[in-house]
Amino acid sequence: MALPEFDYIAAKSLEEASQLMVSMGSECVVMSGGTDVILQIPKNVAKGMKTVIDLKTIPGLTRLDFVDGEGLYVGANTKLFDIQSSPVVLDKMPAVAQAAHYVGSNQVRRKGTMVGSICNASPTGDCGAILLAMNAKVKIQSSEGTREVAMDDFWPGFKKIAADKKKGELVTEIFIPELKSGEGSAYFKHAVRKAMDLAIIGVAAWVKMDGKKVADCRIAVAGGDVTIVRGKKAEEMIIGRELTDELIEKVAEQASAEMNPRSSLRASAEYRYDMIRVYTKRAINKAVETMKA
Ligand SMILES: Cc1cc2nc3c(=O)[nH]c(=O)nc-3n(C[C@H](O)[C@H](O)[C@H](O)COP(=O)(O)OP(=O)(O)OC[C@H]3O[C@@H](n4cnc5c(N)ncnc54)[C@H](O)[C@@H]3O)c2cc1C
Repeated sequence: MALPEFDYIAAKSLEEASQLMVSMGSECVVMSGGTDVILQIPKNVAKGMKTVIDLKTIPGLTRLDFVDGEGLYVGANTKLFDIQSSPVVLDKMPAVAQAAHYVGSNQVRRKGTMVGSICNASPTGDCGAILLAMNAKVKIQSSEGTREVAMDDFWPGFKKIAADKKKGELVTEIFIPELKSGEGSAYFKHAVRKAMDLAIIGVAAWVKMDGKKVADCRIAVAGGDVTIVRGKKAEEMIIGRELTDELIEKVAEQASAEMNPRSSLRASAEYRYDMIRVYTKRAINKAVETMKA
Protein backbone atom coordinates (compact mmCIF):
# COMPACT_ATOMS: atom_id res chain seq x y z
CA MET A 1 0.00 0.00 0.00
CA ALA A 2 1.51 3.37 -1.03
CA LEU A 3 0.94 5.95 1.70
CA PRO A 4 0.53 9.69 1.18
CA GLU A 5 3.09 11.97 2.84
CA PHE A 6 2.75 12.63 6.56
CA ASP A 7 5.02 13.63 9.45
CA TYR A 8 6.04 11.12 12.08
CA ILE A 9 6.95 11.97 15.67
CA ALA A 10 8.32 9.32 18.02
CA ALA A 11 7.07 10.62 21.39
CA LYS A 12 9.56 10.38 24.25
CA SER A 13 7.06 10.89 27.07
CA LEU A 14 3.34 10.96 27.79
CA GLU A 15 3.62 14.68 28.51
CA GLU A 16 5.15 15.33 25.08
CA ALA A 17 2.49 13.24 23.28
CA SER A 18 -0.29 14.89 25.26
CA GLN A 19 0.96 18.43 24.52
CA LEU A 20 1.36 17.65 20.82
CA MET A 21 -2.24 16.40 20.72
CA VAL A 22 -3.48 19.64 22.29
CA SER A 23 -1.48 21.87 19.95
CA MET A 24 -2.18 19.90 16.73
CA GLY A 25 -5.81 18.96 17.33
CA SER A 26 -7.35 17.04 14.41
CA GLU A 27 -4.13 17.39 12.40
CA CYS A 28 -2.57 14.53 14.37
CA VAL A 29 -3.37 10.95 15.29
CA VAL A 30 -1.70 8.82 17.95
CA MET A 31 -0.71 5.22 17.37
CA SER A 32 0.57 2.34 19.42
CA GLY A 33 0.88 -0.84 17.31
CA GLY A 34 -0.38 1.05 14.28
CA THR A 35 -2.29 -1.93 12.84
CA ASP A 36 -5.42 0.22 12.48
CA VAL A 37 -3.79 3.65 12.22
CA ILE A 38 -1.53 2.81 9.26
CA LEU A 39 -4.46 1.44 7.24
CA GLN A 40 -6.44 4.61 7.91
CA ILE A 41 -3.67 7.04 6.91
CA PRO A 42 -4.88 7.66 3.32
CA LYS A 43 -8.41 8.47 4.55
CA ASN A 44 -7.12 10.61 7.45
CA VAL A 45 -4.61 12.55 5.33
CA ALA A 46 -7.45 13.33 2.90
CA LYS A 47 -9.35 14.77 5.90
CA GLY A 48 -6.42 17.00 6.96
CA MET A 49 -4.35 14.76 9.24
CA LYS A 50 -0.66 15.71 8.94
CA THR A 51 1.20 13.95 11.75
CA VAL A 52 1.31 10.53 13.36
CA ILE A 53 2.47 10.56 16.99
CA ASP A 54 3.98 7.23 17.94
CA LEU A 55 3.38 6.15 21.54
CA LYS A 56 5.50 2.97 21.21
CA THR A 57 8.62 4.98 21.92
CA ILE A 58 7.36 6.10 25.35
CA PRO A 59 9.07 4.07 28.07
CA GLY A 60 7.12 2.39 30.88
CA LEU A 61 3.93 1.50 29.00
CA THR A 62 4.50 -2.24 28.47
CA ARG A 63 3.29 -3.40 31.86
CA LEU A 64 1.73 -6.87 32.11
CA ASP A 65 1.51 -7.56 35.83
CA PHE A 66 -0.81 -9.79 37.79
CA VAL A 67 -1.03 -8.65 41.40
CA ASP A 68 -2.55 -11.16 43.85
CA GLY A 69 -5.65 -9.78 45.55
CA GLU A 70 -6.02 -7.10 42.83
CA GLY A 71 -5.87 -8.28 39.23
CA LEU A 72 -4.16 -7.77 35.89
CA TYR A 73 -2.56 -4.50 34.76
CA VAL A 74 -2.05 -4.12 30.99
CA GLY A 75 0.01 -1.19 29.70
CA ALA A 76 -0.87 0.86 26.62
CA ASN A 77 2.02 -0.60 24.61
CA THR A 78 1.62 -4.22 25.76
CA LYS A 79 1.24 -6.43 22.68
CA LEU A 80 -1.69 -8.78 22.22
CA PHE A 81 0.80 -11.59 21.55
CA ASP A 82 2.38 -11.10 24.99
CA ILE A 83 -1.07 -11.26 26.60
CA GLN A 84 -2.23 -14.40 24.77
CA SER A 85 1.04 -16.24 25.54
CA SER A 86 1.60 -15.06 29.12
CA PRO A 87 1.58 -18.10 31.49
CA VAL A 88 0.11 -15.97 34.27
CA VAL A 89 -2.73 -14.60 32.09
CA LEU A 90 -3.44 -18.09 30.74
CA ASP A 91 -3.59 -19.39 34.30
CA LYS A 92 -5.45 -16.55 36.06
CA MET A 93 -7.64 -15.16 33.25
CA PRO A 94 -7.78 -17.63 30.36
CA ALA A 95 -10.70 -15.78 28.74
CA VAL A 96 -8.58 -12.62 28.46
CA ALA A 97 -5.76 -14.59 26.80
CA GLN A 98 -8.36 -16.15 24.49
CA ALA A 99 -9.80 -12.77 23.49
CA ALA A 100 -6.30 -11.46 22.67
CA HIS A 101 -5.63 -14.61 20.64
CA TYR A 102 -8.82 -14.11 18.60
CA VAL A 103 -7.54 -10.80 17.14
CA GLY A 104 -6.41 -10.98 13.50
CA SER A 105 -3.24 -12.96 12.88
CA ASN A 106 0.10 -13.57 14.53
CA GLN A 107 1.54 -10.56 12.70
CA VAL A 108 -1.31 -8.30 13.88
CA ARG A 109 -1.01 -9.57 17.48
CA ARG A 110 2.77 -9.06 17.57
CA LYS A 111 2.27 -5.39 16.70
CA GLY A 112 -1.23 -4.61 17.97
CA THR A 113 -2.13 -3.81 21.57
CA MET A 114 -5.18 -4.37 23.78
CA VAL A 115 -5.39 -0.63 24.44
CA GLY A 116 -5.31 0.02 20.67
CA SER A 117 -8.11 -2.50 20.30
CA ILE A 118 -10.45 -0.74 22.73
CA CYS A 119 -9.43 2.74 21.46
CA ASN A 120 -10.25 1.64 17.92
CA ALA A 121 -13.77 1.32 19.37
CA SER A 122 -15.00 -1.22 16.85
CA PRO A 123 -18.42 -2.61 17.87
CA THR A 124 -17.06 -6.05 16.96
CA GLY A 125 -13.59 -5.69 18.53
CA ASP A 126 -12.48 -8.88 20.26
CA CYS A 127 -11.01 -7.48 23.47
CA GLY A 128 -13.82 -5.14 24.47
CA ALA A 129 -16.50 -7.70 25.36
CA ILE A 130 -14.40 -9.65 27.85
CA LEU A 131 -13.12 -6.41 29.42
CA LEU A 132 -16.69 -5.12 29.78
CA ALA A 133 -17.94 -8.44 31.21
CA MET A 134 -15.05 -8.56 33.71
CA ASN A 135 -15.72 -4.97 34.82
CA ALA A 136 -12.30 -3.69 33.74
CA LYS A 137 -11.18 -0.10 34.34
CA VAL A 138 -9.25 2.14 31.99
CA LYS A 139 -6.66 4.69 33.14
CA ILE A 140 -6.69 7.94 31.18
CA GLN A 141 -3.88 10.47 31.53
CA SER A 142 -3.12 14.00 30.32
CA SER A 143 -1.26 17.05 31.58
CA GLU A 144 -4.44 17.81 33.58
CA GLY A 145 -4.04 14.60 35.57
CA THR A 146 -5.14 10.96 35.68
CA ARG A 147 -8.66 9.58 35.85
CA GLU A 148 -10.15 6.11 35.80
CA VAL A 149 -13.11 5.15 33.62
CA ALA A 150 -15.10 1.92 33.90
CA MET A 151 -15.46 -0.05 30.67
CA ASP A 152 -19.21 0.58 31.08
CA ASP A 153 -18.53 4.26 30.26
CA PHE A 154 -15.62 3.90 27.86
CA TRP A 155 -17.53 3.99 24.54
CA PRO A 156 -20.00 6.92 24.65
CA GLY A 157 -21.10 6.25 21.05
CA PHE A 158 -20.21 4.68 17.73
CA LYS A 159 -16.42 4.75 17.29
CA LYS A 160 -16.10 7.19 20.23
CA ILE A 161 -14.00 6.76 23.37
CA ALA A 162 -14.03 8.47 26.77
CA ALA A 163 -10.48 9.86 26.33
CA ASP A 164 -10.77 13.44 25.03
CA LYS A 165 -8.28 14.00 22.20
CA LYS A 166 -8.64 17.80 22.38
CA LYS A 167 -7.45 17.72 26.01
CA GLY A 168 -4.53 15.47 25.08
CA GLU A 169 -5.96 12.51 26.99
CA LEU A 170 -4.31 9.13 26.40
CA VAL A 171 -5.21 5.69 27.66
CA THR A 172 -2.24 4.44 29.63
CA GLU A 173 -3.46 1.22 31.26
CA ILE A 174 -6.25 -1.33 31.56
CA PHE A 175 -6.96 -2.98 34.91
CA ILE A 176 -8.93 -6.26 35.05
CA PRO A 177 -10.09 -7.36 38.53
CA GLU A 178 -8.91 -10.78 39.69
CA LEU A 179 -11.35 -13.69 39.50
CA LYS A 180 -12.22 -14.70 43.04
CA SER A 181 -13.51 -18.01 44.37
CA GLY A 182 -16.83 -18.87 42.69
CA GLU A 183 -16.19 -16.54 39.72
CA GLY A 184 -15.55 -17.49 36.12
CA SER A 185 -15.49 -15.80 32.73
CA ALA A 186 -15.51 -16.73 29.05
CA TYR A 187 -15.46 -15.12 25.62
CA PHE A 188 -16.59 -16.67 22.34
CA LYS A 189 -16.16 -15.11 18.92
CA HIS A 190 -18.26 -16.12 15.95
CA ALA A 191 -16.71 -15.42 12.53
CA VAL A 192 -16.83 -17.07 9.11
CA ARG A 193 -13.13 -17.95 9.04
CA LYS A 194 -11.11 -19.35 11.95
CA ALA A 195 -8.41 -16.66 11.65
CA MET A 196 -7.98 -13.17 10.17
CA ASP A 197 -11.68 -12.49 10.24
CA LEU A 198 -13.63 -9.89 12.16
CA ALA A 199 -16.36 -11.15 14.46
CA ILE A 200 -19.94 -11.39 13.24
CA ILE A 201 -20.75 -11.34 16.92
CA GLY A 202 -18.83 -12.11 20.11
CA VAL A 203 -20.23 -12.80 23.58
CA ALA A 204 -18.46 -12.63 26.93
CA ALA A 205 -19.88 -13.66 30.28
CA TRP A 206 -18.65 -13.21 33.84
CA VAL A 207 -20.50 -15.24 36.47
CA LYS A 208 -20.26 -15.35 40.26
CA MET A 209 -21.85 -18.42 41.82
CA ASP A 210 -23.08 -18.92 45.38
CA GLY A 211 -23.65 -22.66 45.57
CA LYS A 212 -26.21 -23.48 42.89
CA LYS A 213 -27.41 -19.88 42.63
CA VAL A 214 -26.03 -17.10 40.47
CA ALA A 215 -24.89 -14.33 42.85
CA ASP A 216 -23.89 -11.93 40.05
CA CYS A 217 -23.44 -11.92 36.29
CA ARG A 218 -22.30 -9.60 33.49
CA ILE A 219 -22.97 -10.38 29.83
CA ALA A 220 -21.28 -8.32 27.10
CA VAL A 221 -22.03 -8.57 23.40
CA ALA A 222 -19.88 -7.45 20.45
CA GLY A 223 -21.75 -6.93 17.18
CA GLY A 224 -25.07 -6.41 18.96
CA ASP A 225 -25.22 -2.60 18.69
CA VAL A 226 -23.17 0.48 17.70
CA THR A 227 -20.81 -0.20 20.61
CA ILE A 228 -20.09 -3.32 22.61
CA VAL A 229 -22.94 -3.44 25.14
CA ARG A 230 -24.19 -5.37 28.13
CA GLY A 231 -27.31 -7.49 28.14
CA LYS A 232 -28.60 -5.92 31.34
CA LYS A 233 -32.10 -7.38 31.31
CA ALA A 234 -30.61 -10.84 30.72
CA GLU A 235 -28.29 -10.27 33.68
CA GLU A 236 -31.25 -9.27 35.89
CA MET A 237 -33.05 -12.45 34.82
CA ILE A 238 -30.24 -14.77 35.95
CA ILE A 239 -29.05 -13.06 39.17
CA GLY A 240 -30.38 -14.69 42.36
CA ARG A 241 -31.75 -17.72 40.52
CA GLU A 242 -30.68 -21.35 40.58
CA LEU A 243 -28.75 -22.10 37.42
CA THR A 244 -30.48 -24.60 35.16
CA ASP A 245 -30.25 -25.33 31.42
CA GLU A 246 -33.77 -23.96 31.05
CA LEU A 247 -32.83 -20.67 32.73
CA ILE A 248 -29.67 -20.29 30.60
CA GLU A 249 -31.82 -20.82 27.48
CA LYS A 250 -34.23 -18.05 28.57
CA VAL A 251 -31.39 -15.70 29.55
CA ALA A 252 -29.71 -16.24 26.17
CA GLU A 253 -33.01 -15.45 24.40
CA GLN A 254 -33.33 -12.27 26.47
CA ALA A 255 -29.72 -11.19 25.76
CA SER A 256 -30.44 -11.53 22.05
CA ALA A 257 -33.82 -9.78 22.24
CA GLU A 258 -32.37 -6.67 23.90
CA MET A 259 -29.68 -6.18 21.23
CA ASN A 260 -29.98 -4.07 18.13
CA PRO A 261 -27.64 -5.60 15.55
CA ARG A 262 -27.44 -4.30 12.00
CA SER A 263 -27.36 -6.11 8.70
CA SER A 264 -24.09 -5.80 6.77
CA LEU A 265 -22.12 -7.66 4.12
CA ARG A 266 -20.80 -9.86 6.92
CA ALA A 267 -24.19 -11.05 8.22
CA SER A 268 -27.86 -10.14 8.42
CA ALA A 269 -29.35 -8.71 11.61
CA GLU A 270 -31.55 -11.84 11.91
CA TYR A 271 -28.51 -14.11 11.81
CA ARG A 272 -26.75 -11.96 14.41
CA TYR A 273 -29.78 -12.15 16.75
CA ASP A 274 -29.70 -15.91 16.48
CA MET A 275 -25.95 -16.22 17.01
CA ILE A 276 -26.05 -13.90 20.05
CA ARG A 277 -28.55 -16.31 21.61
CA VAL A 278 -26.39 -19.37 20.81
CA TYR A 279 -23.13 -17.79 21.97
CA THR A 280 -24.59 -16.29 25.16
CA LYS A 281 -25.53 -19.82 26.17
CA ARG A 282 -22.01 -21.04 25.44
CA ALA A 283 -20.35 -18.14 27.25
CA ILE A 284 -22.43 -18.61 30.43
CA ASN A 285 -21.84 -22.38 30.46
CA LYS A 286 -18.08 -21.97 29.92
CA ALA A 287 -17.81 -19.22 32.56
CA VAL A 288 -19.44 -21.57 35.09
CA GLU A 289 -17.34 -24.59 33.97
CA THR A 290 -14.09 -22.66 34.38
CA MET A 291 -15.12 -20.98 37.63
CA LYS A 292 -12.36 -20.59 40.23
CA ALA A 293 -12.68 -23.12 43.07
C1 LIG B 1 -5.46 -7.64 9.05
C2 LIG B 1 -6.15 -7.17 10.29
C3 LIG B 1 -6.96 -8.06 10.99
C4 LIG B 1 -7.60 -7.63 12.17
N1 LIG B 1 -8.39 -8.53 12.82
C5 LIG B 1 -8.99 -8.15 13.97
C6 LIG B 1 -9.81 -9.10 14.69
O1 LIG B 1 -9.95 -10.25 14.31
N2 LIG B 1 -10.38 -8.67 15.84
C7 LIG B 1 -10.21 -7.39 16.33
O2 LIG B 1 -10.75 -7.07 17.37
N3 LIG B 1 -9.46 -6.48 15.66
C8 LIG B 1 -8.85 -6.83 14.50
N4 LIG B 1 -8.08 -5.92 13.81
C9 LIG B 1 -8.00 -4.56 14.33
C10 LIG B 1 -6.68 -4.19 15.11
O3 LIG B 1 -5.58 -4.84 14.68
C11 LIG B 1 -6.79 -4.34 16.58
O4 LIG B 1 -7.85 -3.50 17.00
C12 LIG B 1 -5.50 -3.94 17.35
O5 LIG B 1 -5.63 -4.41 18.66
C13 LIG B 1 -5.22 -2.46 17.37
O6 LIG B 1 -4.08 -2.22 18.20
P1 LIG B 1 -2.93 -1.22 17.75
O7 LIG B 1 -2.02 -1.10 18.92
O8 LIG B 1 -2.31 -1.63 16.47
O9 LIG B 1 -3.76 0.11 17.55
P2 LIG B 1 -3.40 1.41 16.71
O10 LIG B 1 -3.57 1.13 15.26
O11 LIG B 1 -2.09 1.95 17.14
O12 LIG B 1 -4.53 2.39 17.24
C14 LIG B 1 -5.92 2.08 17.10
C15 LIG B 1 -6.75 3.30 17.51
O13 LIG B 1 -6.53 3.60 18.89
C16 LIG B 1 -5.98 4.91 19.07
N5 LIG B 1 -4.99 4.75 20.15
C17 LIG B 1 -3.95 3.88 20.18
N6 LIG B 1 -3.34 3.94 21.36
C18 LIG B 1 -4.00 4.86 22.10
C19 LIG B 1 -3.84 5.36 23.44
N7 LIG B 1 -2.88 4.92 24.25
N8 LIG B 1 -4.71 6.31 23.89
C20 LIG B 1 -5.71 6.78 23.09
N9 LIG B 1 -5.90 6.34 21.81
C21 LIG B 1 -5.06 5.38 21.34
C22 LIG B 1 -5.41 5.28 17.73
O14 LIG B 1 -5.38 6.68 17.53
C23 LIG B 1 -6.38 4.59 16.79
O15 LIG B 1 -7.55 5.36 16.65
C24 LIG B 1 -7.42 -6.31 12.64
C25 LIG B 1 -6.58 -5.44 11.94
C26 LIG B 1 -5.94 -5.86 10.79
C27 LIG B 1 -5.04 -4.90 10.09
